Amino acid sequence: ATPTALMVGTGRGAQLGILIKGPEVLESTRRVDTVVLDKTGTVTSGRMELVSTVTAPGTGEKQALRYAAAVEHASEHPVGRAVAAGYEAEPSDGEGSSGELPPVTDFSNVPGLGVRGTVEGREVLVGRAALLAAEGISVPDELAAAQRAAAGRGQTAVLVAWEGAARAVLAVADAVKPTSAEAVTRLKALGLEPVLLTGDNTAVARTVAAEVGIPAEQVIAEVLPQAKVDVVRRLQREGRTVAMVGDGVNDAAALATADLGLAMGTGTDAAIQAGDLTLVRGDLRVAADAIRLARRTLATIK
Ligand code: ADP
Ligand code: MG
Repeated sequence: ATPTALMVGTGRGAQLGILIKGPEVLESTRRVDTVVLDKTGTVTSGRMELVSTVTAPGTGEKQALRYAAAVEHASEHPVGRAVAAGYEAEPSDGEGSSGELPPVTDFSNVPGLGVRGTVEGREVLVGRAALLAAEGISVPDELAAAQRAAAGRGQTAVLVAWEGAARAVLAVADAVKPTSAEAVTRLKALGLEPVLLTGDNTAVARTVAAEVGIPAEQVIAEVLPQAKVDVVRRLQREGRTVAMVGDGVNDAAALATADLGLAMGTGTDAAIQAGDLTLVRGDLRVAADAIRLARRTLATIK
């Protein structure tokens, strides 16, 4: 491979909005046959919005949202931000804003599951059913039904629990990026098999996958953040050459392990550092452009 031809490839990449770590990266694109796509922030915008609150009998909507927002206030997760912002956007009781959030002590973040903290002397949990199950808290039928309904709409639904009982479901919506379906079409046209990988619920993931043209059997959901890298390794053991596209801190290890790691330029520094390529504008269609460009560049050299 002549260094000059490779450098021409990287220069063209910059014009397309692709930053390539080094010319040697192009080599790894040749055999890529599978492209793993992170859901939140990669296929979807990652800008989540609180869209509904359903409570169990005896629990007020306002109180559930106030407790959840108090705990999520310290969270940097898109779900947490949506809950905190949703509370602030609530109409007030006539006392100025929706009211000061109560202080939280003993805050902790459980990656891929949710958050917890003590509010007004009560231990509050916000997150997936698995987070509650670890505390022996089950989900009553009406809340489970609300979660399923939200998932069918492609919305992420998290539970709010305190004092040993699940009390509310908060549904958060995150729109599929308008360019994602076309991006998947282009990746398939290059002969790549797309896989959707997420920590989110299976039903939500399948709804998003259907929207962009990824078959249900190529959806891998409810994967804990530290296990995303294991999924990449498993695909590699099956003999696949894997490209991974992601944006989050929880995607960094998978991006580094993949044969080709593509980071969304709109994502976290951890992802950008771990990737071989950065898609500057966060446009997934450019992932296909990057692979096509790299292959063409290599074909020129051979
Ligand atoms: P993704 O792979 O889609 O980026 P994560 O692995 O970060 O998702 O999170 C997986 C799931 O864990 C979320 O869909 C949500 O249900 C739950 N979760 C994570 N963080 C929080 C949080 N701060 N509050 C509530 N739920 C959370
Ligand atoms: Mg993400």
